[in-house]
Amino acid sequence: MNIVNVGYDSANYYVIGANAARLLVDVGWPGTLPKLLANLKRKDISLKEIPYLICTHYHPDHAGLTQEVKQHGVRLLVLEQQIQAIPVLKTFMKPVNRYLEITLQDNLGLTVKESRAFLLSLGIAGEIIATPGHSEDSVSVVLDEGEAFTGDLTPPGFADERAMESVTRSWNDLRSLRVKTIYPGHGPIRPLPG
Ligand SMILES: [Zn+2]
Repeated sequence: MNIVNVGYDSANYYVIGANAARLLVDVGWPGTLPKLLANLKRKDISLKEIPYLICTHYHPDHAGLTQEVKQHGVRLLVLEQQIQAIPVLKTFMKPVNRYLEITLQDNLGLTVKESRAFLLSLGIAGEIIATPGHSEDSVSVVLDEGEAFTGDLTPPGFADERAMESVTRSWNDLRSLRVKTIYPGHGPIRPLPG
């Protein structure tokens, strides 16, 4: 599978897939569209070739730019576990951020069960699963070839007591899907922690 990192400002944003059926995983802070466009251009990808965006979770460095990207024709995929988190994103923002609030009615809602068929329609073999721990709304895109885009899922062993149970369960779920390589929201690509 074709995977391109178009991240900036110490975060990773990935483009998965090829031709005009690509999926963007995460976007940056509000107002950073020029950075995203510059990185896409550098990797020879046009925003027009990206019909869909998914945010691993609704924090400013992963979803802040969402509505601005949507205005360029990219449709937002929302897992059912994420619906409630979208309106909360604005509470992380200050006026100086000039955050454009994400509209709710024009997104494409998906369940975990529907995600495989949907990704397949883009030529991507895989699924989107809930991986709570860093936040309740965290999801991961898992490819059948063994890559997982996990956003900020807390590394095992680093979770505080409150999040320990969900973090452990999320890593176990990734393991049971035979994930081999983690594409995190920050930092380098790494093997699935043992
Ligand atoms: Zn982050």
